[in-house]
Amino acid sequence: MARVALVTGAGRGIGRAIAEHLAGQGHRVAVNYRTSAAAAGEVVAGIIGAGGEAAAAAGDVTEEAAVSALFAAVEQSLGPVEILVNNAGITRDGLLLRMRPDDWDAVLSADLRSAYLCTRAALRGMLRARWGRIISIGSVAGLVGNAGQANYAAAKAGLIGFTKAVAREVGGRGITANVVAPGYIETAMTAALGPEVREAALRAVALGRFGAPQEVAAAVGYLASDPAAYVTGQVLVVDGGMAL
Ligand code: NDP
Repeated sequence: MARVALVTGAGRGIGRAIAEHLAGQGHRVAVNYRTSAAAAGEVVAGIIGAGGEAAAAAGDVTEEAAVSALFAAVEQSLGPVEILVNNAGITRDGLLLRMRPDDWDAVLSADLRSAYLCTRAALRGMLRARWGRIISIGSVAGLVGNAGQANYAAAKAGLIGFTKAVAREVGGRGITANVVAPGYIETAMTAALGPEVREAALRAVALGRFGAPQEVAAAVGYLASDPAAYVTGQVLVVDGGMAL
């Protein structure tokens, strides 16, 4: 069944692939962006060109007022959000002794507070409809940690506890909440890492290659689909066997 999906941070990277995948499944997709307005416009144009329905939707998902405005705009252009994908996220890596409070706060805000604000905003309509899918993009760093990413690992581990609590709160109303935890996926986020980090990461991947954004999108597509109705509070790891 065609639904309204909102993907945060969907102008590029994994979010873009998720938006395109959900549109390919027939859903009407809101492509949220913060700074990538032109890129988000291209994603929307591509979806419409392929016969789908999509709209760009601006908003910094760390800000409460911006999130309210985002959900109002999506409701007006496409309808109430039925599938929420909390994808927006940033990294500010550094060893803990040198990690400044700014780096901590920025990552906790973009990667965890954003999911709280968007999920809370989405739940109102989902509870009324007695149907909803909340899918948050975590990371294997939230499962096994990663040196130099204490802030990011804490935020991504936080998403798991958050998701399990939400799954219990709203499960009785036909709403599921799950996490997709990618490993090393080729995007701008990982392109910024040095060659030694890349080589060390690659050695840890059982499948011997990095992942593509589309491979994360396929997992999100499954959790958003009707056959996934009995799956909630779970972490689906898409990492090529990195965190085994
Ligand atoms: P990119 O850096 O390529 O893209 C990040 C996206 O997040 C951009 O679209 C950006 O929007 C958006 N974003 C950041 N902050 C905000 C904000 N405050 N409000 C709205 N949008 C925001 O990252 P990836 O595509 O690689 O990552 C996507 C998700 O997947 C993240 O949650 C990341 O932690 C997670 N992940 C990625 C992995 C990887 O290997 N790449 C591995 C594990 C998890 P804009 O450009 O408009 O500013």
